[in-house]
Amino acid sequence: MIPFNEAQRLVLAACRPLPSETVALNAALGRVAASSVTASTDLAPFARSAMDGYAVRAVDTLLAAHERHVRLPVEQTVFAERGTATHPAHTATEIATGAPIPRGADAVIRLEDVRRDGGVIELGEPVEVGAGIFPPGEDAHRGDVLVSAGEVLTAAALGLLAVDGNATVLAHRRPRIGIICTGDELVALDAEPEHGQIRNSNAPMLAAASRECGADLQFCRTAPDDRLQLRDALARALDEVDLLVTTGGASVGTRDLVKGALAELGVEFLFRSIALRPSKPTGFGRRNETFVAVLPGNPAAAFVGFAELVRPALLRLGGRHDPVYADVPAILDGRVHTKVDRTYVVFGRLTHNQTEFVVTPVVNQCSALVRTATDANCLIVLPPGESEYGDGARVSVHVLHWDRVSFTPATPAHADLRVPHYA
Ligand code: AMP
Ligand code: MG
Repeated sequence: MIPFNEAQRLVLAACRPLPSETVALNAALGRVAASSVTASTDLAPFARSAMDGYAVRAVDTLLAAHERHVRLPVEQTVFAERGTATHPAHTATEIATGAPIPRGADAVIRLEDVRRDGGVIELGEPVEVGAGIFPPGEDAHRGDVLVSAGEVLTAAALGLLAVDGNATVLAHRRPRIGIICTGDELVALDAEPEHGQIRNSNAPMLAAASRECGADLQFCRTAPDDRLQLRDALARALDEVDLLVTTGGASVGTRDLVKGALAELGVEFLFRSIALRPSKPTGFGRRNETFVAVLPGNPAAAFVGFAELVRPALLRLGGRHDPVYADVPAILDGRVHTKVDRTYVVFGRLTHNQTEFVVTPVVNQCSALVRTATDANCLIVLPPGESEYGDGARVSVHVLHWDRVSFTPATPAHADLRVPHYA
């Protein structure tokens, strides 16, 4: 059993970003840039009109400060798609938003700020040089970094790449993941479980969690608690993925065969269990460049093992520089009794009371429950060394869903939580 921090460190040290490949922009969302992309030119490359209006020479409008009106004849119209035009002195050029500023003009007046009288505009105020113009290079100057290596390709980043004519981007390959849920008691989701059987709820949960990490799900299978059949299933699976996740059969019971079978197949374990509650039996191993995470079967334990160990592995393989959750400081609402020798990961509900983050543990932390994870929006990480975390303690949380963090102060619950020590 190794400390949780050490387990996470070993996983991250072992998993290196996968090779890169060229992908079309519309297939790149959520991937990680494998090299930095710089601007090939100033973006935009030319000065543009910020609005629909009239391009002028600012000097031609100066008299408006003294007399009531300046009148300028409208000599031409420039739309966005038109190339270079020349602006004659003492005239106005009608111009559309985004159109290149005609040579000779140095300001644009908003359409709404002039009175048009046939072929002439009349203005009551002078304009300054540069007014109503977007100068070139505002998005980027030539050579500026548009996207850095290791950066997630968000919708906005893809837009910026497109501006400079990048139809493709060099991105890390998505990690191929496979899931094997083990256990004789498992039945398919559409089957009617007999007494003692359970539906394989880990399968859709972990498949979805893998996709949330940008992984490419190759398969989601089941295997029985039978040494030979299990070994066959694992042998086949190891050849098909970058990371294999198993659930169930991870502990020390007579039917907990997964680690033994993997060892027989040549998997070397970085660790076989963690001083972590829940998810203590979680192991992590590798066979050459293929990684295996062995998670316990209990749904809440599998969830925590995935969030704290598999997720960082997948994000790291996918090229992310920041694969672990940020430690968000929060005030504990309630008391949690713990054992000093292990890290506790407690499902919590995070709110913000206009001054600080406050986190309330979800009341039932039993690992066998599926509901705990749905009631939570964060994981409270309580390091070893304390036998109790009191009401008002400063703790760190890992936010699972920022969009479910409430910024309306909740009434403190001051729960007194005894976390079950098993599982
Ligand atoms: P195990 O880790 O194999 O000892 O499993 C512990 C418990 O987790 C089992 O008794 C089941 O109740 C539950 N469990 C195991 N596998 C799954 C699964 N795939 N989906 C939902 N629950 C599971
Ligand atoms: Mg089992």
